[in-house]
Amino acid sequence: MTQAQIDALARRLATGERRALAQAITLAESTRPDHRAATRMLLQSIGQTQLGAIRIGLSGTPGVGKSTFIEAFGMMLVEQGLKVAVLAVDPTSARSGGSILGDKTRMERLARSTNAFIRPSPSQMELGGVGRRTREAIRLVEAAGFDVVLVETVGVGQSEVMVAEMTDIFVLLLAPAGGDELQGVKRGIMEIADLVVVNKADGALKPVAEGTRADYAGALRLMRQRKRDPEGFPAALTASALTSDGLADIWDRIRTLDAWRRESGWFARHRAEQAVRWMRNAIERGAVEQFYAHPGVAKRLPELEAQVATGTLPPEDAADHVLALLRDGE
Ligand code: GDP
Repeated sequence: MTQAQIDALARRLATGERRALAQAITLAESTRPDHRAATRMLLQSIGQTQLGAIRIGLSGTPGVGKSTFIEAFGMMLVEQGLKVAVLAVDPTSARSGGSILGDKTRMERLARSTNAFIRPSPSQMELGGVGRRTREAIRLVEAAGFDVVLVETVGVGQSEVMVAEMTDIFVLLLAPAGGDELQGVKRGIMEIADLVVVNKADGALKPVAEGTRADYAGALRLMRQRKRDPEGFPAALTASALTSDGLADIWDRIRTLDAWRRESGWFARHRAEQAVRWMRNAIERGAVEQFYAHPGVAKRLPELEAQVATGTLPPEDAADHVLALLRDGE
């Protein structure tokens, strides 16, 4: 693509044109070197990130009600006049049946809304690639004027941390559970959650959901209060994506937290740290790619691997040999 074509795409994007947005994200999903270069030029052309939008990470295990929640929550925001984008980070490259993240057929009303944009995770892309693509997609939807960006992922530790690193507020969705055990939620995930929402708090499940909420509220209290947050955060709440009960309260809390963090300067610092971390990730990915593309490494590696596999060479020694090839510039 020429600079003129890219500038034209950026201008169409700025008017909020959906086809331009879809096209730009497709470009960002491509690994072709010319497409990568074009994506970078496009990101430069759209300029600085607008700080106005709220980026919300949302995670939960399959069946907890993510699609239903996003549909109901997204529609509530759209009805308030906000533009809502939904992006997905799918840690499984081979999606076989089951639940597909960002699936438009499961968010039909939202998918039809002119003020919403839903984009599933690209298939056959490794997690690191999905991370890069999603960070870029966030900037693209914001350039297209979206106010709220929901980034959906499933409850697999690594992808949740990745999503937390590219969003401002993290919501963990849970299902009501009998007994007092905390559904195997890892401590690390609890630490990144700003809101723990027990979904399906309706009908017969309502008291169960309240019990689960109380358990999590207790667990959150035991964790140190974060200095960056006002009283009452992180919070454990109940909601029903089916009846929309509790959704308005969730949005209120998100806005309270967001306003507080912006006011305190934490928000801007956090975004700055995220940008630096993004750079580090890009360096690390690039360094590994360059390493394996190095002719000396490519030549020696199979032989050293064979020696390691048969036990004639310790793995660390073999690694030293290959790393030395880079150092010595062979
Ligand atoms: P996902 O896999 O996390 O996206 O979950 P889905 O949104 O597909 O929901 C899984 C099932 O739970 C579906 O049968 C939904 O109808 C149901 N469900 C979702 N939210 C609620 C809720 O708030 N209350 C009840 N009772 N069922 C719900």
